[in-house]
Amino acid sequence: MDQTREQLPFDILFVGAGPANLASAIHLMELAREKKMKIEVGMIEKGNTIGSHAISGAILDPIALKELIPDYLERGCPIEQTECRDNLYFLTRKGGFSIPFTPKYLHNEACLVISLSKFTRWLGGLAEEMGVNIFPGFAGTEVLYNADASCVIGVRTGDKGIDKHGKKKSNYEPGIDLIAKVSVFGEGSKGSLIRDLGKKMDIFSNKMPQVFETAIKEVIEIPESSPFLSAETTVLHTFGYPLRLNKKGGGFLYRLKDNRVCCGLVVALDYQDPFLEPYEAFLRFKRHPLIAEIIQGGKVLQQGAKTLSAGGYYTMPALVANGTVFVGDSASMLNTQRLKGIHTAMKSGMIAAEAIIFALEKNDFSTKTLKKYELGVEKSWIKDERYKARNFTQALSQKGFLKFMHIGAQYFTGGRGLKDPLTIRKDNSTLKTLTPKKANKTKTAVPQHFDGTLYVDKLTGVYLSGTKHEEDQPCHLIVHDTRICETKCFESYRNPCALFCPGKVYEIKEGPQGKRQLVINPANCLHCKTCEVKDPFENITWTCPEGGGGPNYSMV
Ligand SMILES: Cc1cc2nc3c(=O)[nH]c(=O)nc-3n(C[C@H](O)[C@H](O)[C@H](O)COP(=O)(O)OP(=O)(O)OC[C@H]3O[C@@H](n4cnc5c(N)ncnc54)[C@H](O)[C@@H]3O)c2cc1C
Repeated sequence: MDQTREQLPFDILFVGAGPANLASAIHLMELAREKKMKIEVGMIEKGNTIGSHAISGAILDPIALKELIPDYLERGCPIEQTECRDNLYFLTRKGGFSIPFTPKYLHNEACLVISLSKFTRWLGGLAEEMGVNIFPGFAGTEVLYNADASCVIGVRTGDKGIDKHGKKKSNYEPGIDLIAKVSVFGEGSKGSLIRDLGKKMDIFSNKMPQVFETAIKEVIEIPESSPFLSAETTVLHTFGYPLRLNKKGGGFLYRLKDNRVCCGLVVALDYQDPFLEPYEAFLRFKRHPLIAEIIQGGKVLQQGAKTLSAGGYYTMPALVANGTVFVGDSASMLNTQRLKGIHTAMKSGMIAAEAIIFALEKNDFSTKTLKKYELGVEKSWIKDERYKARNFTQALSQKGFLKFMHIGAQYFTGGRGLKDPLTIRKDNSTLKTLTPKKANKTKTAVPQHFDGTLYVDKLTGVYLSGTKHEEDQPCHLIVHDTRICETKCFESYRNPCALFCPGKVYEIKEGPQGKRQLVINPANCLHCKTCEVKDPFENITWTCPEGGGGPNYSMV
């Protein structure tokens, strides 16, 4: 540990203010109050306010919310829609049909539609009222360990006021060492600290590899005359077009309050076509006649993007290590089959809180004591729900008819299916090298018409996400070897980073002698982390920029 830095001691430190950690902190404070324990609890969030980096669908199964805050309605929980009447569509290029039989797991009658940004802001307020010290605008950039690195003892926040060459500026503020008996990591999907911690404490070994999807979402104001506002359906899910059957993913469109809808497309990041561009696929989804009819005349109010950790039960890491626990998407808690992870994130946080109270009572923060959390998850409805979906993502990764055989068999056997555990198709995990014939082409240009209102280009999307970063700071996107981008990656894949990034962060420009050069625009970064997952050479590492930078979501 660096003795020159300021140290702030806590009993418990939460890293990230997503639903997992907020539910955990609220439950922890409640339990401590019941037991008359006085505890100091801190929470850091890299967004400049609580909720500013929160983006989700979001259909909320309120099961965990009801357990945590039974009177959530009286306490002002922000809800967009209480009536969830589903329709599942298979889309073809120009048409589609409604699937007459919607699988049970896709029924949402008992759910609520929320904005995760508003919801987390509300939870944050409750947590603060209960005494949690929340520090928005502070990114955790380093995990702190004891001398022999066998136990996590806290987290260091990022330095502020460093210029792009690494020199201290006049407003330099060194990061602070936040020391805690237990550090709770709820960084969401593809957390940058859990990545490093995972290597050091070996929490991912003997688990199936993590699997990720990426999603682009908008909130759109639509005219009062839109047929969707008076339709029976309020929640629409689609599959098929614009992705093909062998590409995982699908679209969604939900009715919100005040003539607004949210609309998004999820694309699994195991796609193999280097020319696939999730953002462009999203625009094609919006232009599909079924969707276009609903949103025509509308205006995009906000846009954003984020990855989801979609691997399911068998990809869940060890949930505890000495001095630390992992909750929510950081611990791969999402149920891909139900397209939901908020309720499981919240419940995992709540069970972790119970284990932490137990550890505080015993004054023992070892793996052995904190294991109570892991056991609690196994005994809870999280396990019941996720176990039924344990092979689902893996089934989706199969090709052609086999995929449907697996899914069908799983449906009738409580998730076991034809093979348990089913592994992800190996050849599905990366991009396909372009054949010499294809390698001479660049992406087939699809003519796009952007009207700047309903159909916006990537840069307008970045603007509509409210994304801002201090420009004069070290680049937080570490490209380890730019020569790979300029040679091997170009030759094999035609630089897919320029396509998979929804924020136009990566560009390949041709220099005077025709020499290719990678240009990075880190200020556009939406913190979705797609680049770290999808770069075919694993040449990009996403790190937290100066705290407070990034999107400024308020309604997605
Ligand atoms: C487009 C989209 C649609 C979805 N639809 C649904 C849906 O309809 N229903 C549903 O239930 N789920 C849905 N999900 C999944 C759901 O949003 C997640 O499962 C859930 O938000 C996970 O909660 P979490 O607390 O684990 O992480 P997150 O919600 O990701 O929160 C993590 C927080 O930690 C912060 N953070 C990360 N790293 C650091 C760091 N190093 N230092 C400080 N702060 C940090 C982040 O800024 C963020 O605020 C969707 C997800 C997406 C992206």
